[in-house]
Amino acid sequence: MRSNWQGLIPAKAVHRCPFKSAKGVKFVIEAVSAHVDAKKDKFIALSDQIWDLAEIRFQEYRSSKAQMQALEGEGFRITPNIGELPTAFVAEYGSGSPVIAILGEYDALAGLSQVAGATEMQPIDPTKEGHGCGHHLLGTAGVMAAVAVKDHLKENGACGTIRYYGCPAEEGGSGKTFMARAGAFEEVDAALCWHPSSFNGVNVSDTLANLQVYFHFTGKASHAAVSPHHGRSALDAVELMNVGANYMREHMPPTARVHYAITNTGGISPNVVQAEASVLYLVRSPDIQGVRCIFERVKKIAEGAALMTETTVKCEIDRATSSILPNTVLDRAVQQNLEAARGPNFDASDFAFSERIRKTFSKEEIADSFLQLGLDVDPAKVMHTDVMPFSNQRQLDLGSTDVADVSRVVPTTQFWGACYAIGTAFHSWQMVAQGKLPAAHKGMTYAAKVLAATALDLLNDRSLLEAAKAEYRSRMNGNPYECPIPAEVLPPVLRNGGRT
Ligand SMILES: [Zn+2]
Repeated sequence: MRSNWQGLIPAKAVHRCPFKSAKGVKFVIEAVSAHVDAKKDKFIALSDQIWDLAEIRFQEYRSSKAQMQALEGEGFRITPNIGELPTAFVAEYGSGSPVIAILGEYDALAGLSQVAGATEMQPIDPTKEGHGCGHHLLGTAGVMAAVAVKDHLKENGACGTIRYYGCPAEEGGSGKTFMARAGAFEEVDAALCWHPSSFNGVNVSDTLANLQVYFHFTGKASHAAVSPHHGRSALDAVELMNVGANYMREHMPPTARVHYAITNTGGISPNVVQAEASVLYLVRSPDIQGVRCIFERVKKIAEGAALMTETTVKCEIDRATSSILPNTVLDRAVQQNLEAARGPNFDASDFAFSERIRKTFSKEEIADSFLQLGLDVDPAKVMHTDVMPFSNQRQLDLGSTDVADVSRVVPTTQFWGACYAIGTAFHSWQMVAQGKLPAAHKGMTYAAKVLAATALDLLNDRSLLEAAKAEYRSRMNGNPYECPIPAEVLPPVLRNGGRT
């Protein structure tokens, strides 16, 4: 696929100015925190604006534009349309090597409209979207951090390049995977990101690789009462396929997952034999080889269903993501800055709100939020104000993220930043409700400081960057990045006239 990548100014292979030795964690965090705090009000307004827009995957036109305008106003060079994705962009400041990337997002979730600050489920409009994963905070903290790094580089006359990547469609779109396939991260030396959560700490979760595939069945329409024997039902085929897949579950590895949604039932008339029907499958496994193995079995089940019903089936790959490649060197650098930065500093009113909204969480949800991170359950803890201790013990997160594809191109790290009451579930109305509160803004500002300080560490300390790269090479074991999305599969936004 043709890439729009050529628009960027190429980073020089050799940096032209001498590297400054690191002046210590404390110095960097103090300097960068001052830059973040100086401009935080305008970025809090940007985050609230993106919360209000709540645009879903590949439709984030106004959200990405708002970020591009903010960064352009700060002197960044903007390259839009990365990988031909209309809502993907890169903002860049500085020159030469190294190139440090901060990854941002801004997509919302369908059906999660919710009044901000309410402690009961109260949609603004039940048909509308909401920021149920905090990506308005995620992206805006990245913008804040990139600007703070720029201000610091400007002030100190340092060299190197800071880039902010505006990445669309993390939710169900694999935006970063399409960007990685287009070569968007090839000049980058290291990438940093975070995710809003109820806790502060390095994210040491291994995520699952996945593959999302449509199965389109075609049969023959007929009157369901007068001439059913002439009809061949595509909907029967979908139902039989799902039964077959459900029987397969007992014989899958326990860490694999298979989900499906019927996306076309073939119509709403029971008196017509359905000539067309489609089902969308999402297959997950700890690595992409495992995903492909299960996918081959699901394909056989689809073919079996077609054979049984005398229909035909066509398989259409929608998207895929890899599993995460950890980088402990970068994780440790982030941990230092998480501990050195002054935390979100939640106050009495933040705690009071959290106490109120947590009445809507079950005891099990509260316990799970600790257990999922390998922490002891502490029911008395309402908000997280400290930093989780560093752990080499990786957890298996049974979800997936497209950050994984960046991690397989360049050394990448991600961390959690506390913005919500402990027990808040991802993709819930409670997460949307808390997205514009002072606590969320404080968590976002803290995350921006950690991102900016770590980016500066990597710009200033060549040995740290080289160690991160050496770990990356060792974990890749000589294998090049292989995009899990086949070359011929277009991003969803470029299919069907842009309807995703
Ligand atoms: Zn998310």
